[in-house]
Amino acid sequence: MGVFLTDVWFAGGRVADGSGTEPRAVDVCVTDGIITAVTKAPAGVKTVDLDGRLLTPGLIDAHVHLGVPSPIRAQFGFELSAAEIAADIFATAGQAIDAGFTTVRDTGGIDRGVVDVIAKGKVRGPRVLSCGPVQCQTGGHGYYGADWEPTELWTQHHIPGLCALSLMSGNADELRRNVRETFRRGATFLKLCVTGGVVGGHDRLTDTQFTVDEIAVAVEEAAARGTYVTVHAHNNRGIRNAVRAGVRCVEHGTDIDEPTASLMHEHDVALVPTFAVVDQILSTEGLDVAPATVQRAAGVYERMASALRISRAAGLRIGLGSDLIGPLQDRRGEELRLRSELESPMQALVSATSVNANILGVDEVVGTVRVGMRADMVAWQQDPLEDAKAFADPKMAVLVVKGGDIVKDTR
Ligand SMILES: [Zn+2]
Repeated sequence: MGVFLTDVWFAGGRVADGSGTEPRAVDVCVTDGIITAVTKAPAGVKTVDLDGRLLTPGLIDAHVHLGVPSPIRAQFGFELSAAEIAADIFATAGQAIDAGFTTVRDTGGIDRGVVDVIAKGKVRGPRVLSCGPVQCQTGGHGYYGADWEPTELWTQHHIPGLCALSLMSGNADELRRNVRETFRRGATFLKLCVTGGVVGGHDRLTDTQFTVDEIAVAVEEAAARGTYVTVHAHNNRGIRNAVRAGVRCVEHGTDIDEPTASLMHEHDVALVPTFAVVDQILSTEGLDVAPATVQRAAGVYERMASALRISRAAGLRIGLGSDLIGPLQDRRGEELRLRSELESPMQALVSATSVNANILGVDEVVGTVRVGMRADMVAWQQDPLEDAKAFADPKMAVLVVKGGDIVKDTR
């Protein structure tokens, strides 16, 4: 092919393209934000010198909460101003870029204004796909109001354009109204809580929430808009309800057993395990969560690791999500480091790039370094495939490219 004036070659490094094949010593040509060649650069072209470093696709975090960036109890207790929460959201978005994440899927908490302001380039941040507020059953997981407070007052705590943690539905009709409102406010997929959770409230991990018929209402509304439903789910009964109702993805999946994994496989339902948040809650440092939350998290890590092994054996598509909440979201790549320990650095990279892109429905756009894709790429100071600690250290992501723009360069 010809060499155009706008061509820039990322040259002199090795490329792990996100598909799982071993790194190759090739160069990557970017033209107008798109990858236009992956081959040896011709002589005399404009280059960005990688100096032997490993180049990977920009990382994707399939489970983030940009809208929960402040000390948890202070934020949920409405002690913080909109200005402070906005400052923390934008700082968190910038930290994602600095850690090498060029795309994130926000699984609950931000309102459309945050997506738009990052997309316009007014604030540094990754590409964001958002479900807006999480859909929750009245009294279920995702409600963080005071016990004495009527449920109806909960949405008054949303900050329009900035934060919308969750919407409560008491029945199928309310759920239908709430998901339509959620789409009106810019969501591009839906998330439902179909079991209890670890953080907040009085629900237990063993509870199921929403009925199969209710979940199917959300699936129907999502399908009508050409999109999908993912579910927060820890226990098998809740996951099976959701799979029967037609959801496409399960978050956490803590207790997945063989029968549930094979049901998910039969219906081509993906899994996004979330280890970093469990690790974070158990270490508690700076997170400001209630002691009851720490107690609920006990044993979850080991069970989730077992669910990962069972799901891998069943042949599921397994993505990767950090689920980080609170003020400590600068080491988002910790999820890849933990997954590298449980499987391998290459499997962690593939989950965080091509598989996550597939789960998000953007695999024709991002997630691999190949011709025709948007140029989202990271060069690593130390090879994370050799020492996965590099994934978790933002200082190691020395060059971050988003849509062909160099958004971080500390080489
Ligand atoms: Zn979450």
